[in-house]
Amino acid sequence: MHIEYEDSFVKLASLIGGEEYLKVARALLNSEDVTDEEIASATGLRINIVRKVLYDMFGKALISGIRVKDDKKGWFVYRWRARRDYADSFIENQKKKILERLKKRLEYEESAEFYHCGNKSCDRLSFEEAVEVLFKCPNCKNLLNKVDNTNIKKALRYKIDEIARDLKK
Ligand SMILES: [Zn+2]
Repeated sequence: MHIEYEDSFVKLASLIGGEEYLKVARALLNSEDVTDEEIASATGLRINIVRKVLYDMFGKALISGIRVKDDKKGWFVYRWRARRDYADSFIENQKKKILERLKKRLEYEESAEFYHCGNKSCDRLSFEEAVEVLFKCPNCKNLLNKVDNTNIKKALRYKIDEIARDLKK
């Protein structure tokens, strides 16, 4: 299932903690400098859940908090704010990491010929490894055949292009 998120901050929150984080993240974006009680009433979540989520987000540097005096109550409360810039760079960094991994994988796939016995539980071997075992699978003793990795390479190139385009935006 593919879900569109209105904001990378909301997306990141949802990836970290699911539905409850999603609700809190949306409440944080809807009104700036919001208190835990305001979030609880906006989301319908219990106050202790809201606090737990907020402290976790704070610990992950996704939100910042300021301590202000509540005039009505006469005591101090925390007002929370989403750090959207941080969420943006966090997601961008994740994408860059994935891109690097995919490029390395593609390089590997392009670098050699691979051999396999056709048995799902057995590993793929490089040409050098296959020669060493005289083209007999070291695990199941079946004959090793050359693997056509065209589709793997195609899929990797497609994904690499997609992420690279996305990062340019
Ligand atoms: Zn095998």
